[in-house]
Amino acid sequence: MIKGSALVDLFYFYTMNKIEHIGIAVENLSIAIPIYEKLLNTTCYKTEEVVSEGVKTAFFKIGESKIELLEASNPESPIAKFIEKRGKGMHHIAFDVDNIEEEISRLTQEGFMLISASPKNGADNKRIAFLHPKSTEGLLVELCQERSDS
Ligand code: ZN
Repeated sequence: MIKGSALVDLFYFYTMNKIEHIGIAVENLSIAIPIYEKLLNTTCYKTEEVVSEGVKTAFFKIGESKIELLEASNPESPIAKFIEKRGKGMHHIAFDVDNIEEEISRLTQEGFMLISASPKNGADNKRIAFLHPKSTEGLLVELCQERSDS
């Protein structure tokens, strides 16, 4: 899409584009990374800590798709709580969106609950927001938009 034009913004219909990645909660990245490297037959292209979210992440790319491994970086991390409650494994599905503010307001109007009302900076150069699993039949959904400021 062409960005930066008020006219385009006015008439452009923002969409969810694709599944950006699938997030998987793991106990220990140094154990999980080699397992996923073998599984996917590729190397991890990035590891990154997101201090505000209490996570260390590792990313893999296979074709169009990405896998994000998540390890808790402290005991209060949402990942630590998730593993305690539900065990390790699939944690969330992330959708790539054109305009995260527009999606947040559309989804709020549709009755979905957001975990936080405004987008935050996430891993892999993204702005992110999570929908509460209570409003999505149990699935933690992440919205993500590529950050343009880098
Ligand atoms: Zn994610």
